[in-house]
Amino acid sequence: MKHFNLDGTAVPFEDGDTLMDAATRAGHLIPHLCWHTTLGQSGACRLCTVKVDGHLAAACTTRAVPNQVVENRTPELDGKRLLLTQMLFVEGNHFCPSCEKSGHCLLQATAYELGMTEPRFDEFYPKRPVDASHPDLWLDLNRCILCKLCVRASHEIDGKDVFAISGHGIATHLIVNSPSGKLADSAFAKEDFAAQVCPVGAILPKRRGFVVPIGARPFDNALVPALMNAAQEGENA
Ligand code: SF4
Repeated sequence: MKHFNLDGTAVPFEDGDTLMDAATRAGHLIPHLCWHTTLGQSGACRLCTVKVDGHLAAACTTRAVPNQVVENRTPELDGKRLLLTQMLFVEGNHFCPSCEKSGHCLLQATAYELGMTEPRFDEFYPKRPVDASHPDLWLDLNRCILCKLCVRASHEIDGKDVFAISGHGIATHLIVNSPSGKLADSAFAKEDFAAQVCPVGAILPKRRGFVVPIGARPFDNALVPALMNAAQEGENA
């Protein structure tokens, strides 16, 4: 079997694997927010940036090659990941203690894993809408981190193209494909894969609040094992 070297450990891979595919299968955590085992590559969040033979590259889009030397959990790379995570927190409105996704949230768990204990930048406090029009699902753009998982899930798995990304720079935002721009007028359904993949609390099912109590949620008690399970199962919810 072919191998590459990840932080000093030999990682086996199959032809066509990305570094993320092989590392995750072997039980190594490469922090990420926009990667999912069953969806195509994106490279949107850049949290999985590693060094491959000394050069920066996204682990989710870089093919594994025999004998590559890959640096992952180094202080330098985790420092860059922490910076990106802190920027994501201030660009949106992320109030973890009042969010139903707390304890299930990949952004929150990643921040803990990277040692984020306080804000680093001034908050933007952007004004963003909440779409509660759908009978079964909420869309709260205050929490959207533009990972495009719902965009890809709706296109690749559901075949509906309910979501897309619009705008540029700080004005970039998620839009809904419907005459009114509201979820209620779209083809979105609670059974859709796109309704299951949001890594944060931007897309949530209605009437499910606090079914699992705070303190008993996946990331509450076993952070890294839960992150690994989420990566291996492709489960961000
Ligand atoms: S709504 Fe959720 S899944 Fe969709 S882009 Fe925003 S954070 Fe990602």
